[in-house]
Amino acid sequence: MATYSHLRSSAAAASLLAAALLAAHARPAAAQQLQSTCGGPRTLLAATTPAALAAVQTLGHLPASRPAYGWPVKPFDRQHPVRAFLNDPRIGRNGVISFHFGIDVAAPDGTPVYAVEGGTVFFDSTEAIAVKVAPQHEFGYWHVEPAVKPHQIVRQHDLLGYVGRGWGHVHFAERVGSRYLNPLRPGGLGPYTDPLAPDVAEISLLHGRSGVQILANAYDTTWPPVPGPWAHEPVAPALIQWRVTRAGGRRGSWRTAVDFRGEMLDRRLFNTIYAAPTAQNHKGKAGLYCFYLAHAWKPADGSYRIEVAATDTRANRTVARVDVTVVDGQVQR
Ligand SMILES: [Zn+2]
Repeated sequence: MATYSHLRSSAAAASLLAAALLAAHARPAAAQQLQSTCGGPRTLLAATTPAALAAVQTLGHLPASRPAYGWPVKPFDRQHPVRAFLNDPRIGRNGVISFHFGIDVAAPDGTPVYAVEGGTVFFDSTEAIAVKVAPQHEFGYWHVEPAVKPHQIVRQHDLLGYVGRGWGHVHFAERVGSRYLNPLRPGGLGPYTDPLAPDVAEISLLHGRSGVQILANAYDTTWPPVPGPWAHEPVAPALIQWRVTRAGGRRGSWRTAVDFRGEMLDRRLFNTIYAAPTAQNHKGKAGLYCFYLAHAWKPADGSYRIEVAATDTRANRTVARVDVTVVDGQVQR
C-alpha cells in the first residue's frame, strides 16, 4: 500500500512538472516566466518582471522614538553606512549556516571604535571586544584591534580600539542574556532613518514534496550608501508577510513568514526561512535572498492572487503580487 501511494504521488508530481514544461515549450513567453533565480528546475511559475509583480511601495510613518545609544564610530550622533543587517544569511565555505548576529557598520580600516555605553571590558575572542553594561546586557565590537584590556572599566564614548586591517567594518552586536537584539529596532541604535523601502524581485511557485512551495526573492537597500567594494549589496528585509486571496472570495489575512525586527533567530530555523539558492554577500559580489513563504501550499482549483509584503524596521513597505490559476491541480498563469 505504501509503495502504491508512493508511486501514485511521484507519478502525479511528474505529470505536474511535465505539464509545466510542456506549457513553457509551447509558449515562449511562459518559458521566460519559468526562469527563476530562487526556484531552479522545480519552478512551476515565476513572476520576475516589475509588470508581473505589480509592486506598490509605501514609506513608513513611525512615531519618532528616542534612540537608547549612539553609533560606535564618530560622529556618534550621525548615521553611518551599514552593510549587513541582523539575520542576514551567513553560509560558510564548509556549508555552516547561521543568521548574522549583529549589524556591520562600514568604516575604513583603522577607524577608532568607541563604547556606545560604559561598562566592563572582556574579550569574546582576540578580535572581539565586549562591554558588559549590566549583568545580562552587553555590547560586542568585532574585528577591532583592541586599545583596552580585560576587566578595564570604560565610560560611554571611551576608545575601545581600531577597525582591524582588511575588515572595513565593525560588527556591532547587542546581547541581553542569550538573545541578540536587533540594534536597528526603533528605540535601539540611533539616530537611524531609512528613506528606502525593501524590494520584492521575484515570486516563485515550485513543485514541492507535499504541495506547492512559494518563494520570494526579497531584499532591502541600506541608507546611506555603502562606499567601496561592498556597495550596492542587498540586506534582509525585517519582515516578510504574504496572503492568498481566492478570486471572488474574502481577502486573505496576512501571514508572517519572516520576522527579523526584534532579535536573532535560532539557527535551526535557517533552512525553513532561507531556501537553498540563498547566497550571502561577498566583497564585490551581491548575495541572493530566497525566502520560503509556504512549504506546502495545497490549493483547490480556482484563481488566486498571491501578495508578498516586505517591510523594514522603519515600516517602509513594498507589496508585490502575482495572479495564478490552478486547473486540475496544476498551477498556471
Ligand atoms: Zn558582521
